[in-house]
Amino acid sequence: MYDWLIVGAGFAGSVLAERIASQRNETVLIIDRRDHIGGNASDMYNEAGVLIHRYGPHIFHTNSEVIFQYLSNFTQWRFYEHKVLADIGGVQVPIPINLDTINTLYGLQLDSEELEAWFKMRAEPVEDVKTSEDVIVSKVGRELYEMFYRGYTRKQWGLDPSELDKSVTARVPTRTNRDDRYFTDAYQFMPREGYTRLFENLLGHPNIEVRLNTGYKDVSNKSNYLRLIYTGQIDEYFDFCFGRLPYRSLKFRHVTLPQEKFQAVGTVNYPMSHDYTRISEYKHMTGQKGPRTSITYEFPTDQGDPYYPIPRPENHDLYKRYDALAKREDGTWFVGRLANYQYYNMDQVVGQALATFRQIMFSVPLTGNRDILANERLLGGACLDRPASTGNHRSLHRLKT
Ligand SMILES: Cc1cc2nc3c(=O)[nH]c(=O)nc-3n(C[C@H](O)[C@H](O)[C@H](O)COP(=O)(O)OP(=O)(O)OC[C@H]3O[C@@H](n4cnc5c(N)ncnc54)[C@H](O)[C@@H]3O)c2cc1C
Repeated sequence: MYDWLIVGAGFAGSVLAERIASQRNETVLIIDRRDHIGGNASDMYNEAGVLIHRYGPHIFHTNSEVIFQYLSNFTQWRFYEHKVLADIGGVQVPIPINLDTINTLYGLQLDSEELEAWFKMRAEPVEDVKTSEDVIVSKVGRELYEMFYRGYTRKQWGLDPSELDKSVTARVPTRTNRDDRYFTDAYQFMPREGYTRLFENLLGHPNIEVRLNTGYKDVSNKSNYLRLIYTGQIDEYFDFCFGRLPYRSLKFRHVTLPQEKFQAVGTVNYPMSHDYTRISEYKHMTGQKGPRTSITYEFPTDQGDPYYPIPRPENHDLYKRYDALAKREDGTWFVGRLANYQYYNMDQVVGQALATFRQIMFSVPLTGNRDILANERLLGGACLDRPASTGNHRSLHRLKT
């Protein structure tokens, strides 16, 4: 009998496993249907000995000292500020757009003040900014929108920016200085020995058992745990009873080349050409040296693993219906990007997991009489519109409040 079952060994599940095991001295079974830990942040050494990210480049960045300090217990860091170039008709220029981007593309020699005026001159007034197109066009005008954003967004989402919520591009910055960093967070580092090592350290506590190649359905009907943390897809937990929440996926083509370096920076975007959106080269991020290099092409698709929730109002409404069911699952916590149908960066997921742990500490008594708890636990996952307070629910509720 385990005190906790945690479904998913990504950041959400692994941070909670570590906290529960080390701070509550309770036992945790953490499962993942994949054959590795780390979720989408997983990395591995390929046949050429190059450290690559299985699911595309993962750059750690955060403004939260608390999150950075917490993770520092499990890894040392390598300072790394990510740089991205956009390939516009064969010319590679910094993205986010900055002073050098414009001066290079247009053969100008503007200074920061002049560039501000230049943007203002091109920006098209949009009264009510609703879509991604509105956000960009109202900031930098239609020509730059077409060059940098329209094609990229269409490839990435399979939708025109005019059909996508403003939140998709609302945070795309435009700079009038020469800052060419992709992120400006206070902490920008890569785990020195990689993400997988970081996860091994998170999950190394003797109270934690890791079981891979194991789906939730493989263990859910065996009553061998007291409480559940679920970091998988919320619609799957409820057997898709209201229909599927749509996701955009990616196909990754990993390639190793017999040369030291392939491109000038960690990632090059291709907004106007090719089927892929971007190429990333890991040696920039990891600092690895050697005669060969590995790169990854990303091809957006609707088929495959769920990566990006599609931010449209009807999808949010559908999620809310599942969320209402989730709120009634006593003794169960839904954490992470799939369970919340929300695109989160890694630091946000770590922050959410730490906040969930604080809630658990506040509301869940340490495991006492396991037999009573086991009898009280209600197996979840049904889509029935059942009343919130059955006898079992009531007694379990006492545990949570
Ligand atoms: C291409 C790409 C690039 C990204 N780049 C960055 C970046 O540069 N910086 C950044 O901060 N963030 C980045 N992210 C986001 C980052 O991947 C997520 O924030 C993080 O992985 C979320 O952690 P999680 O634990 O919520 O989910 P996940 O990492 O997805 O982990 C969930 C795990 O649960 C398992 N699972 C699901 N359902 C079940 C089930 N029923 N039974 C058993 N196991 C199950 C899955 O196999 C998975 O391993 C990127 C994401 C993608 C897709």
